[in-house]
This record gives sequence, structure tokens and C-alpha cells, in this order.
Amino acid sequence: MNTRRCDVLVVGGGPAGSTCAWALRRGGADVVVLDRAVFPRDKPCAGWVTPPVFEALELDPEEYRRGHVLQPISGFVTSWIGGPRIATGYGEVVSYGILRCEFDRFLLQRSKAYRCEGTALRTLRRVAGGWIANEEWSARMVVGAGGHFCPVARGLGAVPSAEPGVVAQEIELHMDARQQAACPVDAGAPELFFCPDLRGYGWCVRKQDVLNVGFGRLDRADLAPRVRDFVALLRESGRVPADLPARFKGHAYLVYPFARRRLVHEGALLIGDAAGLAYSASGEGIRPAVESGLLAARTILAARGRRLDDLAPYAAAVEARFGRRGSNASPARLPSPLAAWIGRRLLSSPWAARRVVLDRWFLHADQAAMPAA
Ligand SMILES: Cc1cc2nc3c(=O)[nH]c(=O)nc-3n(C[C@H](O)[C@H](O)[C@H](O)COP(=O)(O)OP(=O)(O)OC[C@H]3O[C@@H](n4cnc5c(N)ncnc54)[C@H](O)[C@@H]3O)c2cc1C
Repeated sequence: MNTRRCDVLVVGGGPAGSTCAWALRRGGADVVVLDRAVFPRDKPCAGWVTPPVFEALELDPEEYRRGHVLQPISGFVTSWIGGPRIATGYGEVVSYGILRCEFDRFLLQRSKAYRCEGTALRTLRRVAGGWIANEEWSARMVVGAGGHFCPVARGLGAVPSAEPGVVAQEIELHMDARQQAACPVDAGAPELFFCPDLRGYGWCVRKQDVLNVGFGRLDRADLAPRVRDFVALLRESGRVPADLPARFKGHAYLVYPFARRRLVHEGALLIGDAAGLAYSASGEGIRPAVESGLLAARTILAARGRRLDDLAPYAAAVEARFGRRGSNASPARLPSPLAAWIGRRLLSSPWAARRVVLDRWFLHADQAAMPAA
């Protein structure tokens, strides 16, 4: 059988896959990225990214801004749902808002990997010295970067429906001039509305003329009515247009403290949402996706010249970066009444809202950017 050959086949061209491919290409590897979607494609996401993402990607925000939506964020408005609102300003840019359809396409094109878009992974089998995918590609290594339902992760034993994770719904819409004028949400200060038990939150993020509204929670029970109530609250306060479409997009993903997927297999590893790396308190997944893509590429490049499937150092590198798997403290682990008590105290104190909720949980101010090289 004739197959096309490459060193590494990356399944999934989101931020994890494209970053890994980019770093592998820079290291001289021959890389193919397979994605079932044709880019630009949408991905349910608020599109909020922290500056270390740009640093790790060696991407100048000013360069990216040319031709793409890039909303500088220099503050946040926080509250528990229905509670008093606290505005926290930083006086400098601490985050950005992007559109995933633009951002993901930009990163994938920039990776310079060979792209197979519109091609789902249908079959993957292990052969001596590597893998055969779709009976078309033979690769020495496979990287699973297909998101929460990644077919590589499932093929290697993950059962997404049985794993505890975040369930979220969101809608993103372009506002017309009238809606923009009426929208009181400050584009420089996204609004976050926490469930009192800290097991989820809703958001209103404005990116130039685009408004993104969503709600995510760490348990599946009652998501739809919670989203309905949250949107009703936003409508009442005029934060969203009265004619906001009712149809939200849903998605699920794992957060690090609860994820149990094995990261490394013989000749294969998992990155980004496929590995379940998102931060638990904020749900931020783009930064861990990008960073795990870099760690995976480093491991693969370092294994060259030795046995190409010597990938164990990747799991150790992930733990060194994100903490020991399965043992992280998370507010979501607290019993609900205690979490609710703590949540209300944190969210009613301007000091705690800034230092704990925003600096520590959302901005990870204590964690420096990962160098790309
Ligand atoms: C509602 C919501 C809001 C969020 N908001 C934020 C936020 O504001 N900031 C943030 O940092 N994180 C946010 N996240 C999390 C973030 O979206 C993810 O963590 C991030 O997209 C993970 O990137 P990834 O590359 O691992 O996976 P993805 O971005 O999901 O990319 C996976 C790719 O794999 C492809 N694929 C899937 N199946 C196959 C297949 N069978 N064959 C080939 N290709 C396949 C898909 O088409 C896709 O392109 C949010 C998540 C949700 C659900």
C-alpha cells in the first residue's frame, strides 16, 4: 500500500495543534496537520487570551492587530450573579479579546505545516515504527490535538461522556450600530458573573463590535435553565440586545484537576483539550493548549536521534508546568455551602476580587510566559 509519509501527524489544528506544528516545523520536522474543519472555523469560546499566550507564540499583538480583531482588556467587572458589581482597573493591558475563527486560522497558516483541512481522522492503526492514518498517511508519531472529543484520545482509551468536566454555552454576535450604542458593556473590561458556589460563571465580553455572552459550569445538571436565567438577568439590565438569538452553542471540556487521561502512549501524546489541561477556576484553555503544544514539540524534537517514541518526558514536563495531576487544589472541590460562603466574601471585597479572583485565578499573574524556543 502506498501512503504519504511524514515525521509527525498532528490531529486537530486548534491552538494546541497549530502551536505544536509550528514549533516542530521550526525544529526541522516534517509535519502534517489534519483537521475535519475547513478554516476559518468557529469554536465556542469567549475569545479571551492572556498576554503570555502571545509571548509563548512569539507573536507581537501589534502585528496580529493588523487585519484581525484584537480587543485590549485593562480591567474586569466581577460579581456573583445578582450581587453588587466590583470594577477592577489595571491601568495597563492585562488581556486581549480575539475571534477564534480569525485567531485559529492565523496560527494554523503561520505554522507552515502541511494542512489537510476538511479531513476527519477516520482510522488510526499502529504499525511497526509508527502509525497509519486514514490509510493515507504514515507517520512515526501522532499528536492528539482534536479537542475534548479528540479521536486519538478516544482511540487510546478516553471516554469523554464519563469524565467530569465543564459544560458551557455561548453565543457570539456582531452588533449593528444601534446595538453597539445601546450596549453598556465596556469593551476594555469584560463582565464576569459568578455562581455563588464558585462552580461556574457567566460572562459578557465585548470585542469591538462583537459581543460574546456565555455561561459555563462544572456540572451538567440544570445548565439550560441556569443559562436562561442568566440571559434574562442580562436582558433586564440592557447588557444584551432584547432580540439576542435564543440559540446558544454548547460544548464540554475537561479541567486539569479532574482530568485523568493518559498523556503519553507509545508513539503518541495528547495536548490541549484532548489532554484536559484547562485551568479549573477560569476555564481558560488557550494558554494551556499553546504551552502543551510547545512542550510536546520539545519532547518530540529531543527524542530525535534516540528512539522517536521516547515521549515519557512530556508527562513530566506537563506536571512541572501545571502541577501534579489529580492533586491540585481547586475551589470547585469545596463543599457547596463552604464555597458559597467563601465566594461571596471574595466577590464582595475589592482587594480579594483583584488579588485572588483576577490576579491568581484568571490572569495567573505569578506564572511567567513559557519561552517558545
Ligand atoms: C463556551 C466556551 C468558552 C471558552 N472561553 C475561553 C476563553 O475565553 N479563553 C480561553 O483561553 N479558553 C476558553 N475556552 C476553552 C478553549 O476554547 C479550549 O481550551 C481551547 O480551544 C483548546 O484548544 P485545542 O487546540 O486543544 O482544541 P480545539 O480548539 O477544540 O481544536 C480542536 C480541533 O480538532 C479538530 N477535530 C476534532 N475532531 C476531529 C477529527 N475527528 N478529525 C480531525 N480533526 C478533528 C476540530 O475541528 C478543531 O479544529 C472556552 C471553552 C468553551 C466551551
